[in-house]
Amino acid sequence: MQEYFAARVKYPAPSYSVPVLLTLLQNARVFAPEDVGIRNILIGAGRILWLGESEPELGLAGISRVDLRGRRVVPGFIDGHAHVTGGGGESGFASRVPPVPLSRFTRAGVTSVVGVLGTDDTTRDTRALLAQTRALREEGMSAWCHTGGYHLPPVTLIGSVRDDIVHLDPVIGVGEVAISDHRSSQPTLDEILRVASDVHVAGLITGKAGILHLHLGDGGRGLQMIRDALATTELPARVFNPTHINRRKALFDEALELAKSGCFVDITAFPVAEDDDGLPADVALLKYLDSDSPADQITISSDGGGCLPVFNDQGELTEMDIGNPQSLADTLQALLDGGAALQRVLPAFTSNVATLLRLHDKGRIATDAAADLLVLDDAHRISDVMLGGVWHVRDNQQQVYGQFESRQNSHSALNTQDSKTQHPDMDKPRMIKPRIDKQ
Ligand SMILES: [Zn+2]
Repeated sequence: MQEYFAARVKYPAPSYSVPVLLTLLQNARVFAPEDVGIRNILIGAGRILWLGESEPELGLAGISRVDLRGRRVVPGFIDGHAHVTGGGGESGFASRVPPVPLSRFTRAGVTSVVGVLGTDDTTRDTRALLAQTRALREEGMSAWCHTGGYHLPPVTLIGSVRDDIVHLDPVIGVGEVAISDHRSSQPTLDEILRVASDVHVAGLITGKAGILHLHLGDGGRGLQMIRDALATTELPARVFNPTHINRRKALFDEALELAKSGCFVDITAFPVAEDDDGLPADVALLKYLDSDSPADQITISSDGGGCLPVFNDQGELTEMDIGNPQSLADTLQALLDGGAALQRVLPAFTSNVATLLRLHDKGRIATDAAADLLVLDDAHRISDVMLGGVWHVRDNQQQVYGQFESRQNSHSALNTQDSKTQHPDMDKPRMIKPRIDKQ
């Protein structure tokens, strides 16, 4: 047990390095994600061992008791789309975004992440993505990745999509393959179907997610390719998983219909300007939940590490920002500030994603589930973050950092709760060309 915890927090050694065998969270208002009321949660070996109204009988040493006094505890976020290696690269080589450091995810409440390659699947490849995914695992996160990138034929490590998923533990699907976008490889339906069938079969063989995660661009063809695939093949709808559905209102309306066919559809929590045709993530989620599309087939991801154009009042591109996982925490806060019920919106960040990705011990607070937990304060902000039973954030203080993160700098940057804040370790890529699309 001691060795287990030592291994989980070895990068770097946290300030509280005395191993804790068991943690008892007392008086937690548990949203599992449904509201189950006040509970005590016993945590050990990275999992939820016990969940109950009374306190368990424990005469053990080495137990850490934390009285949450009724504060809300929710499952850690599962971010199904992040450029963990850094994305970008669409405005010269200098615009390649650096890797996203550990605390950028954990401070935002992301306890599980799926890494993807984007437009640049040429200077970046599955090999690099796999290494970064494993680096995040070493640092304590639950991390997976997709093979491939924007383009077909897909970049792979072993030689085929099916082999990558079957033989490489962290690889669970393919993506983000771009459609309806000028940066795509303009794939034909047959090309898409070949990849979709490979990923579906690989999912059957392994029990992994087995999804084709599709980047949707601004193109007018929208989701037509997916409708054609469903109309002409036997492939189950869940294999086709479109993201960025809120980037245009018309695309969003298409996605509402597509979800009724059985597809899970993904909202991206990117910033949306007032004159933009897109929908902010909080608005999009409520619109989805108010529709008659299935409530358990909507998810939200951050696009963290991707490049984001920033425009001034005149619509001129002034700088290039970096997508930040904090946008997930900001979206939940915006929803709750607006009066949304936590149990209504929470599944899109947690249990719905776990269902799609077949992560059976994630996204829920239940006995034997992973001890990936967030505590919310009265202002609907995330005050505490636990990954696998280890506090990475405690009372708003970052406890665990990635290998190359500066503790001092990270504190000042991360405590602002501002998704626009630039991480000091991540230099802003210099903008060279005048027009960049959301990645
Ligand atoms: Zn994308």
